[in-house]
Amino acid sequence: MDLKRLSLGELLGAADQVAREVVAPEASRVDGEGRWPETGLRALQAAGLGGLVVPSAFGGQGQGLVALARTCEVLGRVCASTAICFGMHCVGSAVIAAKATPLQQRTFLEPIAEGEHLTTLALSESGTGAHFYLPQTRLTAVPGGYRLEGAKSFVTNGGHADSYVVSTLASAARPGDFSCVILPAQAGNLAWEGSWEGIGMRGNSARTLRLQDVFVPATHLLGQEGDEIWYVFNVVAPYFLIAMAGTYLGIASSALEEATAHLKRRHYGHGGAPPSSQAVLQHRLGTLWAVVERTRLLIHSAAARGDQGEATALAALCSAKAEVADCAVHVVNEAMTLVGGRGYSESGSPLFRHLRDARAAHVMSPTTDILRTWVGRALLDLPLLGE
Ligand SMILES: Cc1cc2nc3c(=O)[nH]c(=O)nc-3n(C[C@H](O)[C@H](O)[C@H](O)COP(=O)(O)OP(=O)(O)OC[C@H]3O[C@@H](n4cnc5c(N)ncnc54)[C@H](O)[C@@H]3O)c2cc1C
Repeated sequence: MDLKRLSLGELLGAADQVAREVVAPEASRVDGEGRWPETGLRALQAAGLGGLVVPSAFGGQGQGLVALARTCEVLGRVCASTAICFGMHCVGSAVIAAKATPLQQRTFLEPIAEGEHLTTLALSESGTGAHFYLPQTRLTAVPGGYRLEGAKSFVTNGGHADSYVVSTLASAARPGDFSCVILPAQAGNLAWEGSWEGIGMRGNSARTLRLQDVFVPATHLLGQEGDEIWYVFNVVAPYFLIAMAGTYLGIASSALEEATAHLKRRHYGHGGAPPSSQAVLQHRLGTLWAVVERTRLLIHSAAARGDQGEATALAALCSAKAEVADCAVHVVNEAMTLVGGRGYSESGSPLFRHLRDARAAHVMSPTTDILRTWVGRALLDLPLLGE
């Protein structure tokens, strides 16, 4: 595919067009059938967005956190499953790009930039749960590379991506040292277990990946052995937090629009005062607007500070995802009240889907409680991961 470099405005315009013309018409089916949103993701790749955060030196769009937040919001408005799948591809791309060797640039980043390769992040494990930065998957040095043993849970794009960024215990490292490797989908001995049965994010394909005697060439190690914690806080955290923040902001924005549209169009057959004329409903709507807008401003400011490499950006980035989780769940709940019985019905409005999708925001690591704790610890000059 021959894709040209686009400005931020052009990229957002392209994302908006794909969202309206391809993603939105599929959203109910993706949700209802738990279908991985292939059509939307392929359309995003064809429009040049696959390489959104890949550096321009490798043919990508060279964008950062601001572009990621805004693109995920555009997608999250119409289909949160597509937004999260696209977002995790971008997080994986950023991790690969951070310290890519020339071989990794050719093998992974250039195809990602050309829209021909989809990647994703496989960090979480059932043994360490919300503490996703503490993998128990083992990396053992063998001639020519490593052997990988373990299991990854909730892998977004599971079974569909072309490669997986996997965190592991480092092979010969000191206790507590972890490494990241890129695992191509065609590597032998990858076993996918079960199907994704989440109440929301139903197209996400967040499946369990069992790794038994999997060979990873030495060339697929990311950075140096023991670099995993560096990746977690320097790349995974900013890109993941912002991709998720944009996605959940999209859900909240759509819920607010839905409530506004309902109040504008609702009139009673008996000629009674329409809901839009009730001061209490006007007040509720006005409050929701402020909740969404202040969350958007925090997300955009955190993303901009992250892009500028500000030392204190991490607190803003952590708070952006914690705030958007509260915002999305609250705004969708309130919107459902404003829209009444139609909002509560499966066929009447997207709020039914938004309510289930939004709920994942608190569950996905770093979870809201952990993020709040990290910010508090940072303010107290304590190490984030200490007791
Ligand atoms: C839709 C979806 C998509 C996902 N996609 C991915 C993906 O692509 N890649 C990936 O690697 N993972 C992914 N995950 C996994 C996710 O990020 C979490 O790691 C996982 O859901 C949390 O693990 P657990 O269920 O075992 O929670 P547990 O570890 O059992 O935690 C339960 C609760 O206890 C809280 N808790 C635990 N310890 C503390 C503490 N010290 N302080 C305060 N609270 C604490 C947690 O915040 C949580 O609320 C996904 C999850 C979902 C739901």
